[in-house]
Amino acid sequence: MTIKVLLLGGTTEGRLLAERLAGDARYDVLLSFAGRTENLQRPDLPHRVGGFSGAQGLSQFILSGGYQTLVDATHPFAAQISGNAVRAAAASGVPLLRLLRPAWQAQTGDQWQTVGDMQQAATALGNRPRRVFLTVGKLELPAFEAAPQHHYLIRTIDTLTPGLPHARLLTARGPFALADELALLQRERIELLVSKNAGTHATYAKLEAARSLGIAVIMVARPSLLPAPEVSTLAEVEQWLAGHAQASSRRGE
Ligand code: NAP
Repeated sequence: MTIKVLLLGGTTEGRLLAERLAGDARYDVLLSFAGRTENLQRPDLPHRVGGFSGAQGLSQFILSGGYQTLVDATHPFAAQISGNAVRAAAASGVPLLRLLRPAWQAQTGDQWQTVGDMQQAATALGNRPRRVFLTVGKLELPAFEAAPQHHYLIRTIDTLTPGLPHARLLTARGPFALADELALLQRERIELLVSKNAGTHATYAKLEAARSLGIAVIMVARPSLLPAPEVSTLAEVEQWLAGHAQASSRRGE
């Protein structure tokens, strides 16, 4: 007896979870990617790439594919798809669980200014030209066109042409090591770091480096998401799925 699981990914956790479930005969898992990065590292397991055309499209996809559970393991800033997952789960009657990693918390020595969105982050950089390390993802860069006076070092996964006058690009994919982040911030004489509160280990070293060098951080808070049942670990998702697999087996499905 297997249950069909639709797993919304685009994160390390999504990929790890799909790999763990792939070896378990109780589950038939499809991992879904938005297809935003140019060089998607395709996993060696069942997956699909591309949007569903909104909540209604997602609901239709769930029903026509016979999925029995929906797991949202998307990025904490991916508010649109997480909202669509809530609406699609309600419309299709399929249970939903959200996997959301905890947010980073400021520690002693951190000089964080938390802001509500990217526009506020651009304003928080101030009027005086500064040397800024932008680690916010390519989709968020237009917000900084409102602050063209700064010198930006932009780190993204994909190459792009920044629409900012004083900007240099650094293409790299995490995880990043503390020693490398320290060297980078010092070499580039970075004065301010801008980050989303992603909460992942893979990119935490930049914050440790900023702490030890006394560099201020503009931290963009997470967007609020539509409420949904939520857990923070892979083990909790596996436990939830095991409960559904057991119930399905009892019903003889
Ligand atoms: P978003 O604004 O919440 O979603 C925009 C649209 O992209 C959705 O409406 C949906 O299109 C499609 N989409 C998003 N995730 C999808 C998935 N896993 N499978 C199929 N379609 C998906 O999301 P985003 O911020 O652009 O992020 C896109 C993807 O990149 C997410 O999967 C997220 O996990 C990953 N990611 C995001 C960030 C970030 O900072 N935002 C960082 C790292 C990774 P339709 O409406 O057509 O279904």
